[in-house]
Amino acid sequence: MADDEKVKNEALQMMGQYQNLPRLVVFDLDCTLWPFYCECCYEDDPPYLYPEARGIVYALKEKGIDMAVASRSPTPNIAKAFLGNLGIQSFFVAQEIFSSWTHKTDHFQKIHRKTWVPFTSMLFFDDEDRNIDAVSKMGVTSILVDNGVNLGALRQGLTEFTLKASSSHRSMNG
Ligand SMILES: [Mg+2]
Repeated sequence: MADDEKVKNEALQMMGQYQNLPRLVVFDLDCTLWPFYCECCYEDDPPYLYPEARGIVYALKEKGIDMAVASRSPTPNIAKAFLGNLGIQSFFVAQEIFSSWTHKTDHFQKIHRKTWVPFTSMLFFDDEDRNIDAVSKMGVTSILVDNGVNLGALRQGLTEFTLKASSSHRSMNG
């Protein structure tokens, strides 16, 4: 679709403006990649993404940045069926989808063990501040989205990632 192409090109152009890019971008699913809770759906319902999500995922793929999923959905079968039907399941090098009492810290431990990407090289998008608080304490640049993943959230994420990378570099040197 033309819109996806347009968003993808804008995202690629945006990424070109940053010197430090994350090595892994991690997405929540419900109310982050798609605007609903998949536990309230049936597996064969037609899934759909937030308007700019697909273009952003395509841009990250084209840029060679790995992606992963961290979801506390109690219905991983529905979530995985939706990712498959959307044609993006193969884009994610790790898909951690399970309910948990922790606010995704165990999801990120598993993602780290699968990818060996340091937490400080990850960028995370989620719509729940408890997850953002817990995961950012691990060293992950974590962005709270209030209307799903879009170009504004991506820009905020890349900016905060760059600021964090330069401040930790400064503290390492003095
Ligand atoms: Mg969510």
